[in-house]
Amino acid sequence: MTPLFPTPNHYLYNLITMTSPEAKKLWRRAIKEHFHCQCVYCGETYDPKELTLDHVHPKTFGGKDITSNLVPACVKCNQDKGSNNWLSWMRATFGITQREKLILHHIN
Ligand SMILES: [Zn+2]
Repeated sequence: MTPLFPTPNHYLYNLITMTSPEAKKLWRRAIKEHFHCQCVYCGETYDPKELTLDHVHPKTFGGKDITSNLVPACVKCNQDKGSNNWLSWMRATFGITQREKLILHHIN
């Protein structure tokens, strides 16, 4: 049964299509909160308003606008990553970190 007041996880995992701007805002916010407002790439904590949502698999390569392809990223990481392969870029920039697992868990 769907709870009356859905948790962020409800938005994260159960919502497929969003139309209203307000719902989309909540959805984007829920993704940031799910990751404790940390940039998944550098691991720094930010104010949610300062965080962007990065398409792990870039839109230019067919990456979808869905929760499992979206992660919070700071502006710098988002821009630096660009349309590079996330794992190659992340390892070249930060070496091998535990955060890889966090992302892999989210996208799979
Ligand atoms: Zn970052």
